[in-house]
Amino acid sequence: MSSPATHAADELQTSRPTIVDLRSDTVTKPTPEMRIAMAEAEVGDDVYGEDPTINRLEQRAAEIFGREAAIFVPTGTMGNQIAIKLHTKPGQEIICEERGHIFNWEMAMLAWFSGCTVRPIYSEDGILTWEMVRKQISARIYYRQQTGLVELENTHNMAGGTVYPQKIADDICDRAHEAGLPVHLDGARIFNAAVALGKPVAEITRKFDSVMFCLSKGLGAPVGSLLVGNKTFIEQARSVRKALGGGMRQAGILAAAGLIALEKMPARLHEDHANAKFLAKGLAGLPGIDIDPARVQTNIVIFDVSGTGMSASEFTHKLAEKNLLAGTADTQRVRFVTHMDVNREACERALEAVKQVVND
Ligand SMILES: *Cc1c(COP(=O)(O)O)cnc(C)c1O
Repeated sequence: MSSPATHAADELQTSRPTIVDLRSDTVTKPTPEMRIAMAEAEVGDDVYGEDPTINRLEQRAAEIFGREAAIFVPTGTMGNQIAIKLHTKPGQEIICEERGHIFNWEMAMLAWFSGCTVRPIYSEDGILTWEMVRKQISARIYYRQQTGLVELENTHNMAGGTVYPQKIADDICDRAHEAGLPVHLDGARIFNAAVALGKPVAEITRKFDSVMFCLSKGLGAPVGSLLVGNKTFIEQARSVRKALGGGMRQAGILAAAGLIALEKMPARLHEDHANAKFLAKGLAGLPGIDIDPARVQTNIVIFDVSGTGMSASEFTHKLAEKNLLAGTADTQRVRFVTHMDVNREACERALEAVKQVVND
């Protein structure tokens, strides 16, 4: 372990302050193994299809998801927006859950880039059913704007990392297809869902027309997401990616870390889930905090702090003073996300910080 890459990684490791960062699973730093792989990656010009590491990553992603093809994109947002562009026509509606990422966190690109609008459905746990979706599909009459796409999010980020029971997701896909509608999956955290369900990602996503998943969330890669689908869809996605400015060159540097994320990191996600449960159980016993630990299914913990008399943002400012970084889900609720750079001991310190804030 004496290469310059490992040395730099070690230095980062030891100089890291005692801050516990639970804002998101995107804050992870690449592992020493990733840094070495990045330094040593074989590369070429990916716009010419000549980057061997990118090609290997795309091929492995397609295999793991049981699909014909996959395309590497710099962000999950770009992956989702390429899919939306290809599945819809301007003037159409997209059915999705009200707090969905594509609707709230992607800069209105579904309107800006694809000319679509959203027909949102609120569901407390973020999980839609066919019954809910069916009622929002527009009648096939010429003077009504038409539904163009159904989109699901698994796990559902802002509903607290909730997981689609496979039957419910399968049912929505089957019935939407019967109604002539494609279904896209925002699977930014699909490996967390797979771990929670104890099933391979290929099985839980097989009925979707396209799936986007992130390497840069719980899997720990510094950059990157993939979009998987059939061969024609992914060929078309290459043009749209280029149009969005996502045609990268020697991006094998990134794919090298991505391959490690894809191959090795799913096997450790259960630790993040156990840590999230641990946090939830600890929080449940504190005055002024409202959370049902039984609802925490993966690595996201959302809890109501209104009983403390503080708003969510006041609460997170107090936590930051105690070296604990957290996010907010809305004005009353705080969000913790566990990931590979917070171990059990860091979670214990996090609970200690919350205790101090509620007791002050
Ligand atoms: C993070 C995330 C994305 C993609 O985000 P980028 O920051 O663009 O990579 C998409 N969907 C969900 C649910 C996410 O949490």
